[in-house]
Amino acid sequence: MPLHPLTTNNAGMGVARRDSSLLSPSDYDADAMSIRSDQDTDSDDDERQLRARNSRELRAHDRLVLMEEEELDELVTQSRRRQGSQRRGSNLPIPNPLRLLTRRLSDASLSRSRSPSVQPAESVEDLGREKRRTRRQRRSMKRDRLLADAQHGEDGELMYEMEEGGMKDGSSTGDSSERDDSDEVDRKHLMHVTDAKMKRKRNCRRWSLVYAMIAVAFAILVLVAWKLSIERRSSHGAQKLVSNGTAIFGPTTIIISLDGFRADFLNRGLTPRLSALVKEGVSPLYMLPSFPSVTFPNHYTIATGLYPESHGVVGNSFWDPALQEEFTYAQPEHSMDPKWWGGEPFWVTAQRQGLKTAIHMWPGSEAHILGVEPTYMDKYDGKEFLTTKVDRILGFLDMADEDRPQIIAAYVPNVDSDGHKYGPNSTEIQFTMQKVDKMLDSMFKGLEARNLTGIVNIVVVSDHGMATTDVSRLVQLEDVVDVGKIAHPDGWPLVGLRPNNPDDLQDIYNEVVRNTKGNPNLEVYLRDVDMPERYHFSNNERIAPLWIVPKAGWAMVKREEMDVKEAQAKGTVYRPRGLHGYDHEHPLMRAIFIARGPAFPHQPNSKLEPFRTCHRSAPFV
Ligand SMILES: [Zn+2]
Repeated sequence: MPLHPLTTNNAGMGVARRDSSLLSPSDYDADAMSIRSDQDTDSDDDERQLRARNSRELRAHDRLVLMEEEELDELVTQSRRRQGSQRRGSNLPIPNPLRLLTRRLSDASLSRSRSPSVQPAESVEDLGREKRRTRRQRRSMKRDRLLADAQHGEDGELMYEMEEGGMKDGSSTGDSSERDDSDEVDRKHLMHVTDAKMKRKRNCRRWSLVYAMIAVAFAILVLVAWKLSIERRSSHGAQKLVSNGTAIFGPTTIIISLDGFRADFLNRGLTPRLSALVKEGVSPLYMLPSFPSVTFPNHYTIATGLYPESHGVVGNSFWDPALQEEFTYAQPEHSMDPKWWGGEPFWVTAQRQGLKTAIHMWPGSEAHILGVEPTYMDKYDGKEFLTTKVDRILGFLDMADEDRPQIIAAYVPNVDSDGHKYGPNSTEIQFTMQKVDKMLDSMFKGLEARNLTGIVNIVVVSDHGMATTDVSRLVQLEDVVDVGKIAHPDGWPLVGLRPNNPDDLQDIYNEVVRNTKGNPNLEVYLRDVDMPERYHFSNNERIAPLWIVPKAGWAMVKREEMDVKEAQAKGTVYRPRGLHGYDHEHPLMRAIFIARGPAFPHQPNSKLEPFRTCHRSAPFV
């Protein structure tokens, strides 16, 4: 049978007609662009918030520093003035307080003022003759210096002298300076001169006023900071505890994962409760899963915000060359060991913050990750009735205040399992979607009955989409690679190849490329060479070094499972009839994210730009 590429119209059927933007391949590149811009926006917002927070603190800090500096400057100025006055009286040249205020004077002037030609202080015991001689000498020096300064355009010191009353117009002869000098000498050894006293008193009053103003300003600042912190605390407290009339609720969030619920399933007219949630809440047109678009990596990506290459659960099954062990999700006794699970899932974060969590069957919740257990944990049971899930969730909400979990995460496998079994376009899965929607409706009615609609946050997500398979879209693995050279084939429907001998990698790669050349529906990548960057699927030794990635709807099949040529000749039905795991940006792999509640203060029916599972904005904790 000839190979036919899968078109999205084949797989999407009527869905594509309803909403071409969800499944049309023509939007493919544009979607990729929007994802990238979404990442940028998130990052920018974070930076903006960080900047805003920092600048507020910095502004407050700056104000304090400025006030302290002003105070210090004033003290220094006052001290220098007094010092200067003393020095003038003690035969020292005028120091340079103005430099502190205006910083206009040059270093040359500074060094000049500190010239070693300065005379030491005179003692009152000096003989009058000696005193007079010294004063004359000093006046002469000072006059010369001030005149020299003025000639060099450095009239700042003269101006300062004038404003301070030390030297009046025409007093550059030093007369007033002499009076000051005398006063100072007298003050040291005899008595205070009245006008000097008054001057100090005026200064004292002035500085007292400045200090008082600084103190008042500082007190106002402290009060404002205190008030702001009180308001923040009280608003935080208001969020923390809300009464529904019968009990007190802290911030509470329910996260429901509808495994395999493809984004366009919402448009089939089968899920009125989910459609109402879209109208009431906030959602993107779709959420992109991470690569590979399979259940365990993606649920753990939703839980941690990390790419699979970072959290380490790189597939539903994979080989770890360091541990020399295989991870297989279907063997919980083995896969639910913390050694497989990196990163920190939201239930661990919440528990560490002192919150109680209830995790109902979420992949990974049984793995004792980081040694922290959810307060309530329900092991996986694929046969559990949907009504039981509703009772369980509402039961958590009905717990006593001290026992009630604030994070409730529940896993719903039905759409995925029937999608695999019957295909995403089957009558059966439509029935399953309706059942799941009714389950959600029961839960929402339970919230309404408890007056919790505006109190409890709801997040409904899925982990990936689903593509229809067909016997005409199969490739026999043995036709592509010599499986005898492969130690561990990982993944499905995409295949990771780990050679027996690592040195054979290039030869095996060349062989695979040669054998798949005629088939445009298979992509072949070396993990460390040309794996597309957008997959974020290379930075982990658990990722096999060579990958064959089929296009959506295609599958690699081992001969022991099915002889492809024989099956195609007979027209045998290939099962599963639905598969996922493909390029996470393919329209058929799109997932959902819908949120409502006080943690999402958006206008009803708000639309977000599509984003990836790993970019969820921590609404859960
Ligand atoms: Zn899944």
